[in-house]
Amino acid sequence: MDTLNANAIWTQACKHLQDALHADVYSRWIAVISPDRIEGDTLHLGVDNDFYQSWLEEHYLPLICDALRAVSGQDWKIAFNVSPMDLFTHAAAQAQSTPEPSRTLRERLMPRRPDTRLQLNPKYTMSSFVVGPANSFAHAAALAVSEAPAKAYNPLFIYGGTGLGKTHLMQAIGHAVVEKNRARHICYITCETLLNEYIDALQKRSITEFRKRYRTVDLLLIDDIHFLSGKERIQEEFFHTFNSLFDAHKQIIMTSDRPASEINGLEQRLVSRFEWGLVTELERPDFETRMAILRFKQREMSLSVDESVLTFIAENVRSNVRRLEGALVRAVSFMSLTQQPLTLDALKRLLRDTIEEEQHAEISLSAIQKAVAAHYDIRLADMSSIARPRSIAVPRQVAMYLCRSLTPSSLPDIATAFNKTHGTVIHACRAVQNRMDVDSDLRRQVQDISTKLGKSIHALEPVS
Ligand code: ADP
Ligand code: MG
Repeated sequence: MDTLNANAIWTQACKHLQDALHADVYSRWIAVISPDRIEGDTLHLGVDNDFYQSWLEEHYLPLICDALRAVSGQDWKIAFNVSPMDLFTHAAAQAQSTPEPSRTLRERLMPRRPDTRLQLNPKYTMSSFVVGPANSFAHAAALAVSEAPAKAYNPLFIYGGTGLGKTHLMQAIGHAVVEKNRARHICYITCETLLNEYIDALQKRSITEFRKRYRTVDLLLIDDIHFLSGKERIQEEFFHTFNSLFDAHKQIIMTSDRPASEINGLEQRLVSRFEWGLVTELERPDFETRMAILRFKQREMSLSVDESVLTFIAENVRSNVRRLEGALVRAVSFMSLTQQPLTLDALKRLLRDTIEEEQHAEISLSAIQKAVAAHYDIRLADMSSIARPRSIAVPRQVAMYLCRSLTPSSLPDIATAFNKTHGTVIHACRAVQNRMDVDSDLRRQVQDISTKLGKSIHALEPVS
C-alpha cells in the first residue's frame, strides 16, 4: 500500500487531464475521483457511487491511463472502488490531492465536510432525520436523551439493520447536545476505531492515556458495538470504561446491528449493562416514510425529480435507507448527464442491480418453508399438503406465522403458498403467537429458525 505515491501520481495525472478535457467535464468526472492506493501495478481510485464507476470505465479509462503513463513512464491498471458516503476519508483525500471540484452536481450530492473536531457529520441532525412509525420510538428516545443526558435513559442502545439510520440518529444526538450545551466533552467513535486505538495503546504502552481519553468524557457515542463480538480484551477494557462513565453519571449511547443478547461472544455482564437503560430498534421504513425520505433528500440536494420517479424508487427499494438514497443519486446523476427526463424503462434499467439486491434482501416464502421443514425434519412437500397429522400441523403453522411476521407478503399470497385458505393462515398465526407466550420450547424453536434465516426474533411483528 502506498498512499503517498498514489496521491502524487494522481495529482500529476490530473494536470494532464485538466489540459486535455473541457473544464466542465473535468470537474464533473475527474475532480471527484480520489486516489486511494497502489498495489503492484494497479492504482486504486475511489469514486462516490457505481454510476460514476461505470461512466468513467466506459468513457474516460483510456484517457486516464494515457495521462498516468505520461507522468510516470509506466502502464497502470485502474481499479475504481466505490466508497459512497465514506465522508471522513473521502473529504480529507479530496482536500489533499485533487483540485477543488466546482460547485456542480457533486456539491449537491455529497454530504458537506464533517466537523473534524467532533467527527460528526454535519448532515446527520435531528432535523434531517425523517420520522415514521418504524423509527418514531427510537427518535423520541434520542430526543429525550439529548434533552437530558444521563438522566432520561442511560445507556441508550439503538439497534437495527444496515442503512436504517443508526449512525445518523446517534450523531444527531451529539449535535443536539452540543447545540444545547448540555455536555462539554463529547466523543463519537466507531467501535472498530476504538479497538484500533486500544491495540495501538497496548503497543505503545500508553494505556493510561487511552483510559483517560474515554473515561473523562461527558457523552460517549460508540457506533457499531457489535464489533466487540468475540474480542475479549477490549470487552474487558470497555467494561471498566462503561462502569466508570456510568458511575459518574455520564451518558453512553451505543448502536448495534442486533440486540445485545444476540451478539455472539459478548460477555454476559456487558449484555446486561447494555440493557440497563433503554433498548430501541430502528425498523425498515414503510412506503410513506420512504417517500418522505426521498422528498427530503431531493429538497436537500435542491433538485427536482418527477413524483413518478420517487414513487418507483420508494416502491422498489424497501430494506435500506442508504440504498434508497443511492438510487435517488443514481437517477439524478443520470438526468443531469443526459439532460433528459427519466422514462420508467430507463429508470428500471438504471436501478436493475439495486432492485436485484433488494430481492435478495427479502426473505422468500419458500425460503421460510424450507428452513422450517429442515428444522422439524419433515418434507418440503408437507408444507402445502392437505394431510393434518400433528407432526406436520405444528411446523406448518410455525412456517405460516414466520411468513406473516418476517415478510411483507399478503395473507392471500401466504395462503396460496401453503395451499390453504386465508382463514387457516390467520388461525395458524394467532395460535402460534398465543402458544409462544406460554410455551418456551416453541418460542425457542421460532427464534432458532428466525436466526437461521438471518432475522432476529425481535424482527417478528405481532400478527393480527
Ligand atoms: P446505519 O448506521 O444504520 O447503517 P446510517 O445512519 O449510516 O445507517 O444511514 C444510512 C443513510 O440513510 C444515511 O445517509 C442517513 O442520512 C440516511 N437515513 C437513514 N434513516 C434516515 C431517516 N429516517 N431520515 C433521513 N435519512 C435517513
Ligand atoms: Mg452506521
